[in-house]
Amino acid sequence: MNEIEALVVGSGFGGAIAALRLAEAGVRTVVMERGRRWPVTGAHDTFATYDKPDGRAAWLSPVTVAPAQEDVPIDVYTGVLERVRGDGIDVLVGAGVGGGSLVYNTVLYQPRRDMFARVFPSWLDYDELDEVWYPKVREGVGVATMPADVLAHEHYRGQRVLLEEASAAGIPARLFELGLDWDVIRAELAGAVPPSLIAGQVWYGSNSGAKRSLDRTYLARAEATGKVEVLPLHVVTDVHENDHGFVVAYDEIDDNGRVLAHRDVHTRHLFLTAGSVATTRLLVRARETGALPKLDDAVGTRWGANGDLVIIRSGLPPTGPGEGGPAGAVIEDLDNPVAPVALACMPIPQAGMPEGSMGLIGMGLGPAKGSFHYDAGTDAVGLRWPSTDPGVTVIADGARSTFDRIGAGKIEAVDAGLTGHPCGGVPLGLATDRYGRVNGYPGLYVVDGALVPGGSAACTNPALTIGALAERAMAAIVPGIVEEQTA
Ligand SMILES: Cc1cc2nc3c(=O)[nH]c(=O)nc-3n(C[C@H](O)[C@H](O)[C@H](O)COP(=O)(O)OP(=O)(O)OC[C@H]3O[C@@H](n4cnc5c(N)ncnc54)[C@H](O)[C@@H]3O)c2cc1C
Repeated sequence: MNEIEALVVGSGFGGAIAALRLAEAGVRTVVMERGRRWPVTGAHDTFATYDKPDGRAAWLSPVTVAPAQEDVPIDVYTGVLERVRGDGIDVLVGAGVGGGSLVYNTVLYQPRRDMFARVFPSWLDYDELDEVWYPKVREGVGVATMPADVLAHEHYRGQRVLLEEASAAGIPARLFELGLDWDVIRAELAGAVPPSLIAGQVWYGSNSGAKRSLDRTYLARAEATGKVEVLPLHVVTDVHENDHGFVVAYDEIDDNGRVLAHRDVHTRHLFLTAGSVATTRLLVRARETGALPKLDDAVGTRWGANGDLVIIRSGLPPTGPGEGGPAGAVIEDLDNPVAPVALACMPIPQAGMPEGSMGLIGMGLGPAKGSFHYDAGTDAVGLRWPSTDPGVTVIADGARSTFDRIGAGKIEAVDAGLTGHPCGGVPLGLATDRYGRVNGYPGLYVVDGALVPGGSAACTNPALTIGALAERAMAAIVPGIVEEQTA
């Protein structure tokens, strides 16, 4: 059996950060990623588009799965977006080298201190995150708010409407930071390259290359060290312990998901960064089947949907629905008397929305009441979510309160049954120590969204917080690995 010094499973925020920090310390590292690489080229045709979706739009699915475009027949392919169907909630996740950063809205949003304190344990020092780890992730990706010339452009009417209506109602709103190359956006606006993000093409990937996705930032730097090998189309299926560490089973697949080979590999240092749902499922199954029997009972608990809402409004001034991606502006109604909410504009192409309508994503302090359960009959792990719990439904009430105060427009739909922001399942400080070292198993670490312990990222999109927790964890974990190797 092959021996790997450090194995990282998944290449999203947690995986890319783990790989870079291991590599910089000289630790030879392999990253196994279930999805493909998605190199952006001058041909501007790397990813599927909403106009003409194909297999690249979904992970091994015969139909499309994006909320604005469901159930269009496509070829079964290792595409970028998966919809995990749970009991009470569906979860969207990215697949491919770069993970969620391929499909995300590029929002890297830091929670306000008081919101953070309501969600995260008191021992997790906000000052330290604020001064060290949040800035490190912002620097690692490269972020900026939407420049004034872009915001003023015809394509961004929706974002301006959002800012103006909040200001008129006396509700705080602002531009937040995005991991984008604004010069590429300017080139799209000038017609120098085909429109992609400015036409709301966000969730299938960005053909213009405007997204500073992790394959082009953190992972590129990790690979440049020569210490990291990224293996795409490698699906980890099982983990169990042996006398010297962990045996990891994986499938090598082709672009259509057919299994080419099934192999095992051995490692002493295993970093699970397959995302909140996939990491938790691997560990719950390992505990319940006896492969990792000492895993804590807290594994599979405290999952949350980030207080997410998808909202459609109509009856507004001209908004250019479907234009002006990604979201650049946010209403921060955190002192909302019903429930704090952040509401960001979410351009939805192909939804057939009339002029004056607007898609939004809402985020609140959702509860950590989701849980994962193993079914021996199917050998699968399911996700249960209490969709009618008052802690869930109050967030929609909070959003309605914000729009009542804004006054204008009509709410067409508020949907809390879908999240792209899964949080938790292997809660930090409960299933692991305070840095993601998994209880009961020295050498096993979780450093991805599964760690978020309180059900949400405190009224923000979670990637920046997941990245900050990963940076913080790696700074604590890596010296011990280096010491062990030099001993
Ligand atoms: C459409 C969409 C838009 C979003 N927009 C934003 C946004 O603007 N801002 C924000 O903060 N967040 C956003 N998110 C959420 C964000 O993408 C996640 O919070 C973030 O990527 C989570 O990082 P992670 O490391 O936990 O996991 P991920 O980034 O999900 O990475 C996990 C990786 O593991 C791989 N993997 C899974 N299972 C296996 C396996 N068995 N073997 C090998 N590899 C495996 C996956 O393919 C994936 O590449 C969005 C998500 C979606 C779906």
